[in-house]
Amino acid sequence: MALRQARATCPYCGVGCVLDVKSQDNALVQITADPAVAPNFGMMCPKGALLFKSDAPKRRLATPMMRENKDAPLREVSWKEVLRYTADRLTAVRGARGPDAVAFYGSGQLDTEASYLFTKLFKGYLRTNQMDTNSRLCMSSAVAGYVQAFGSDGPPTCYNDIESADTFVILGANMTANHPVLFNRVRRRRATRDSARIVVIDPRRSKTAEYADLHLPVKPGGDVALLLLAMRRLLEQGATDTAFIDAHTEGFDALKDLISSCDPVALHEASGMTASQIEAFAGVLVGDRRLLSFYCMGANQSTAGVDKNTALINLHLMLGEVGKIGAGPFSLTGQPNAMGGREVGYLCHQLPGYRKVTDASHRAEVERLWDIAPGSIRPTPGRSAVPMFQAAADGEIDALWIACTNPAVSMPNVSVTQAGLERAGLVIVQDCFKDTETARYADVLLPAATWGEKSGTMTNSERLVTRSRAVKDAPGKAVPDWQIVAAVGRAMGFDGFDFTSPKQVWDEFRKTTAGTPCDLSGMTNKRLERGGLHWPCSAESHPGTPRRYTDGRFPTPTGKARFHAAKPRGTDETTDADYPLAVMTGRVAAQWHTRARTGNVPELNRQAPEPFIEIHPDDAKAFGIDDGGWAYAVGRRGRALARARVTDKVTAGTVFLPFHWGDSFHPETAANFVTTDAVDPVSLQPELKFAAVRLEPASAPEATSAVALEEVAR
Ligand code: SF4
Repeated sequence: MALRQARATCPYCGVGCVLDVKSQDNALVQITADPAVAPNFGMMCPKGALLFKSDAPKRRLATPMMRENKDAPLREVSWKEVLRYTADRLTAVRGARGPDAVAFYGSGQLDTEASYLFTKLFKGYLRTNQMDTNSRLCMSSAVAGYVQAFGSDGPPTCYNDIESADTFVILGANMTANHPVLFNRVRRRRATRDSARIVVIDPRRSKTAEYADLHLPVKPGGDVALLLLAMRRLLEQGATDTAFIDAHTEGFDALKDLISSCDPVALHEASGMTASQIEAFAGVLVGDRRLLSFYCMGANQSTAGVDKNTALINLHLMLGEVGKIGAGPFSLTGQPNAMGGREVGYLCHQLPGYRKVTDASHRAEVERLWDIAPGSIRPTPGRSAVPMFQAAADGEIDALWIACTNPAVSMPNVSVTQAGLERAGLVIVQDCFKDTETARYADVLLPAATWGEKSGTMTNSERLVTRSRAVKDAPGKAVPDWQIVAAVGRAMGFDGFDFTSPKQVWDEFRKTTAGTPCDLSGMTNKRLERGGLHWPCSAESHPGTPRRYTDGRFPTPTGKARFHAAKPRGTDETTDADYPLAVMTGRVAAQWHTRARTGNVPELNRQAPEPFIEIHPDDAKAFGIDDGGWAYAVGRRGRALARARVTDKVTAGTVFLPFHWGDSFHPETAANFVTTDAVDPVSLQPELKFAAVRLEPASAPEATSAVALEEVAR
């Protein structure tokens, strides 16, 4: 009866709850949280509390598998054989087709050590920037927004600002479902401070909106127009912080010119907001009130995602609500280590320490740090997520290595991604489960240890770096992700991958960040064993930095924050008579991402057993859809099947469709069959909040609920 106990960071959302995990006889048995430990102070949501039921031993990939040709079945092989085969095939594709015919698609669920080694292998040694991750689908508009406004990525704020804030603006974030522990802290502040107010800007009346003092049901895509109206009202009221604007910002005149040139009637029309709604919004912004804004996918997953981010940051700059206690624009990460991935530079335009591949001095610094030949790192960004899979479908990418994510469900316009996976000559899937929708395309399956079986480092939404530890052994031959990358690097004959512990990887990585905006160089493993630290943390004696820009200086050439004057733009896709409704994809509290883990937990499956679509009563009547019946959302690229929920939580003309269920649940239930692959022109983040559809009644598919129940049993 071997009992083990360790502290680990929750592998789900960006709140980054620290959990105490127990295993017995090498099985997880209990999860608790310590009331004294940040950031969750004893709290957990059901997903975290039920992690001990999420393992599903029968689904685990415990042995390397491969096939030499597409017609052959996968067979179990040794690590020696699979590493040799993988290395030889990658070398052959590079030799025959060039370095850019090899691509990597990763995840904000990988720990920092693995993410760093993938970046080093691809950008430093394979000499390709064809490397992107699912953070592109989640965070890249927030990255670009921060860089445009402040000169650097990374939020200025920290969770402890919640307990000092007066006004919470939550834009495009359903925190009750997706960041529940953090929202508990917001609710507690609202309950204990009479003057605190919560404003939710969301087209849908989500549970978060139901808690709000003011819900602004903005039209899909109308956020910039709404924020311009609010700023216009603040200017009329003389409510701006002139001293802050003069001393610490630039570009305010251009923003004022834009606001005065916009037709207010058009802004009201684009946002769907009435004058009284804007008045009410302005009312909770003015005066001596600390403003803390949270935003997530509703802001980021848009062809105007960067503009939405910068518009909200403009509001903060205009009010001087940055760099002080209880204030700031705070982007939330959807995944546990999306921040850590940004720090290592795993998006196609990045290098470690928030450096860029396009900057010659940054490339030279990293080449020196990696001890590789000058000119090894290519100067142009690789393909981001959407064009990467398109290139695979077009035959331009021949080898795809996918780790710790499930793009065959989560990518927009997922039929193209599936075609790319089908066409690529070599698909390597590194995962802990053998039966994900992506794994069915694999030529090589590399078995990875999962949460609770490996030690590594993650950074949550507030820049808090924590260490997650192993509490059980991985099954069979599965090993931590960083070991797999290092082993492939060595098998390819590269000399920069001679690591024997995650500590060695961490030590090398943290040193690459010295002197950069996300300086973690002072965070030794030993310090992190004692508790989390916020970056920047530039020396082993540095206490960490929960709050940035407190001196009013920003890492721009002038030291000033920048207003960004962006006009409202329409969405790329529009509705018409054939496709009159706008579909917004999203998430529910009981499932996470593509259900690879939460789909194993009976209690969570009972709460959210099957795909559904929320439809306004007027639209349901117009399309002949019954509440509780089944319906197709039919779009220009495909159709998705879901059970109808007729509700006024959505406004007429919009429908809400969670994306968790892939086509292995039922061949037609992937929400991303209907989404568009249009992207924001700056961040390259795809639009997942607006695709045009119509509805068609459908018969109940055979055994959909039964499928869920079957999964409960596995
Ligand atoms: S709030 Fe997020 S990090 Fe915390 S337990 Fe829930 S899923 Fe995990």
